[in-house]
Amino acid sequence: LLSFSLLAWRSFGQVPDSEVPKQKHDYQSDVARMRKIVVNSLYSNQCEHFVRELLSNANDALEKLRIVSLTNKDIVDPSQPLNITIRAVKDEEGTGGRLIITDTGIGMSPDDLTRNLGTLAKSGTSEFLAKADSLDTSGGGNLIGQFGLGFYSSFLVADQVYVASIPTKSETNPEPAQYVFSSSADDSSFEIYPDPRGNTLGHGTEITLVIRPDASQFLNTDRLKELVEKHSSFSTAFPIYLLTQV
Ligand code: ADP
Ligand code: MG
Repeated sequence: LLSFSLLAWRSFGQVPDSEVPKQKHDYQSDVARMRKIVVNSLYSNQCEHFVRELLSNANDALEKLRIVSLTNKDIVDPSQPLNITIRAVKDEEGTGGRLIITDTGIGMSPDDLTRNLGTLAKSGTSEFLAKADSLDTSGGGNLIGQFGLGFYSSFLVADQVYVASIPTKSETNPEPAQYVFSSSADDSSFEIYPDPRGNTLGHGTEITLVIRPDASQFLNTDRLKELVEKHSSFSTAFPIYLLTQV
């Protein structure tokens, strides 16, 4: 069902942030409602659903690339196998850290990042919000399990989220560049900027969750292994690697 390997810990690189000029965008108003639901769910057992949401997005991105590559072999870099990797990096103090989920899928241009992650209407959360309307908003907890918050579920466990992404080459975009979408949980805006690290991905997407101290269970590899197995039943096509620190 799930190809699950433990690889040695390698260098984890830098957080994609620096003093580069950043383009600021306001979220749509639905985000205020979304945030309320997320905050109401913080101490429920619904937080872990971010694993399912992010893995299903990664799986979708890999599947899209696989389909496109059937007719256009050139867009896939043969040195880059189609897979998902998960890495937990604990802070020195051991109180918090980062969870980094990377896929070698179709990736996103800066416009895609803005449209797909900044617009709730585009995201799977619209179905969620429609349903939440007909119920008491505080009922968000059990809705998360049923419908999911999509990408926005990242904020169930993270104060700050960075999405670094680079699309595959295409005729309209022969020389793509890697960009970053960055947002904090309590901000009504997000930022888009060129990745100060350059192109580290080849093609695909790397999601860095800066895990809140009270959600540090999600940095524990045993816990992660359990959650990945529980929440990746949709996927049989692409291997998922959990990298552990040795
Ligand atoms: P949904 O998956 O239901 O569309 P999400 O909120 O989960 O809603 O994601 C919104 C959109 O962001 C996706 O439809 C996709 O276009 C884009 N996206 C999210 N994660 C990735 C990823 N890892 N790679 C490429 N695109 C992604
Ligand atoms: Mg999704």
